Amino acid sequence: MASAIEIKKKNRRNVFQIIYDERKISKSEIAKRLELSMPTIAQNLSGLFDKNLIYVDGTFDSTGGRKAQAIAFNAGARYSIGIDITKNHISGVLINLYGEIIYSVRLKFRFQSKDSYYTELKNLVEHVIKKSEVDEKSVLGVGISIPAIVEKDNKTVSYIPIIEELATIYDDLRGYISLPYGIFNDSNCGGYAELWHQKQVKNMFYLSLSNSVGGAVLLANEVYNGERRHSGEIGHTTLEVNGRPCYCGKRGCVDAYCNAQNLSNLTDGDLKKFFELVDAGDEQCKAAWEEYLYYLAVVVNNLNNILDCDIILGGYVGGYMEKYMDKLRRLVVERSTFKTDASFIRTCYFTHEAAAVGAALYFVDEFINEI
Ligand SMILES: [Zn+2]
Repeated sequence: MASAIEIKKKNRRNVFQIIYDERKISKSEIAKRLELSMPTIAQNLSGLFDKNLIYVDGTFDSTGGRKAQAIAFNAGARYSIGIDITKNHISGVLINLYGEIIYSVRLKFRFQSKDSYYTELKNLVEHVIKKSEVDEKSVLGVGISIPAIVEKDNKTVSYIPIIEELATIYDDLRGYISLPYGIFNDSNCGGYAELWHQKQVKNMFYLSLSNSVGGAVLLANEVYNGERRHSGEIGHTTLEVNGRPCYCGKRGCVDAYCNAQNLSNLTDGDLKKFFELVDAGDEQCKAAWEEYLYYLAVVVNNLNNILDCDIILGGYVGGYMEKYMDKLRRLVVERSTFKTDASFIRTCYFTHEAAAVGAALYFVDEFINEI
């Protein structure tokens, strides 16, 4: 049997969760749904009021009698910052407790393991706080997304082929960030951000189609990291035996065929321009896109056969996929052994900054789980 303390904790958690999920709800509705007495509800609400996590936001219309107060969740009680480091860019976002972006900025700034870079990152954190007009004391922490395999401690990098100097980033940033901070794998961050915003979906694979190809397995609402932290690394599965060389040192990897640079290299690194030319009928770009979709369909079909769950297309290319989904689905259906309409393939919610948001969500999650 549950102890009195456990019951209290469970009640507190449930009261919080229902207000968080509904955003705005009356006291009597909470009592009805949770089957708790009004004094119990009042006691729990008082604790949440004290922490500034809820507030009274007007009243609900009623058909008679006293109007019920609307209890609302204060999404701005705390905030979290996400930073996404890639080879040539750095992004910063600030999110509230609903994971909504309050401010975001992306700068072209090549990574260098130097004081000047870390100082720029420090300035970026300060800039994001200032532009968001929030009190620094309400910021829970800074989550930093990097293209690397990161250990469970969110400090140690165990594999980093793209930007080797990032291996010591956690220690290198000591003294530059005064808030709590941690480092996270970029694809896992992107996947987690998508999962967060699609609460009805519990299992999914996030395919990150950026200048490198990554992925994240999300099972039962959590990132499945694997026994050795490299689950979801679809980028280095083999698409063509003895095919094109991959930066990892092997040949024929998915990355060599499905990274965004295969497309943007045709337009001086400008992916937007590439898709404009595809739509305008440019032969070279069209041919590159046809080939890309062909390989992407193979990858998606393989993933579906292994996991049989929603597959979210994210990363740089994912942001442009909406228009081409019918075609991709057709290609997957043609290849599929099983009867499907390929409706499990979906475009991403975040067309940009998914990785930064996902990194920031770490501190939001931590905070909410402790309530
Ligand atoms: Zn590879």
